[in-house]
Amino acid sequence: DNPIRRKPDWIRVRAPGHPVYHETRALMRENNLATVCEEAACPNIGECWSQRHATMMIMGEICTRACSFCNVRTGLPEALDDGEPQRVADAVARLALRHVVITSVDRDDLPDGGAAHFAAVIGAIRAAAPDTTIEILTPDFLRKPGALEIVVAAKPDVFNHNLETVPRLYPSIRPGARYYQSLRLLDRVKLLDPTIFTKSGLMVGLGEERPEILQVMDDMRVADVDFITIGQYLQPTVKHAALEKFVTPDEFADYAAMARARGFLMVSSTPLTRSSYHADSDFAQLRAA
Ligand code: SF4
Ligand code: SF4
Repeated sequence: DNPIRRKPDWIRVRAPGHPVYHETRALMRENNLATVCEEAACPNIGECWSQRHATMMIMGEICTRACSFCNVRTGLPEALDDGEPQRVADAVARLALRHVVITSVDRDDLPDGGAAHFAAVIGAIRAAAPDTTIEILTPDFLRKPGALEIVVAAKPDVFNHNLETVPRLYPSIRPGARYYQSLRLLDRVKLLDPTIFTKSGLMVGLGEERPEILQVMDDMRVADVDFITIGQYLQPTVKHAALEKFVTPDEFADYAAMARARGFLMVSSTPLTRSSYHADSDFAQLRAA
């Protein structure tokens, strides 16, 4: 087991208690929707939900992969729920979101990896809430030929797929995934539809070195990735990958400067940055610029 380390002073989170937080929570319950905010025990839930910003997790709560940083259960998932796209769309419309982030578990059990379901969710949101911009955070669709094309054809505004960590750490942190498959996925989105923004993210504090992070940034730019997020890994339980280091705010600021110098359109690099953290306000700012 890996003991959980005490958090440093710079990782402070606001307790959930705001009335809008409770509204958001009630709506998720009513529509029977899962959120990664809860599944991942995200430290930002108090702040995000009190601003009606949540990341919905589709295709069930059981994943076919077992990434060592992730708190989602592994196993054989249930059948897809045909009513889910409409329920997600209804929740988006009722929350009057300007931007929504949709993610999923990995569905290696399905022939298309869940691509058609992702497309159905995007279509339902477009119909119910045409002004809401849509960001998807997808699995890697490893060994699912044609899957990516189905998702891209549904035209999300932002296509996000996280590289999560440096290639050297893949065997222990993302077993079942391949660094170059994930990178190529991002590259192919841009080739298929250059109007879609692409985005990727990294967790730090897992034992990576600075030059390795800079190399991943370079790889992302070669793949034409537009947005980057970098945040501190927090170990969910003693069974998960060990947290090697609390990266300091100054180191995060250095990563942000390195990323900006490489030409990313949007950079978020702070201890509490998560893939979907401030995704709504950041994207609104970019569109207004
Ligand atoms: Fe949810 Fe993302 Fe906010 Fe965390 S950062 S609470 S996952 S929307
Ligand atoms: Fe968690 Fe995603 Fe890995 Fe599944 S594929 S274990 S949901 S990080």
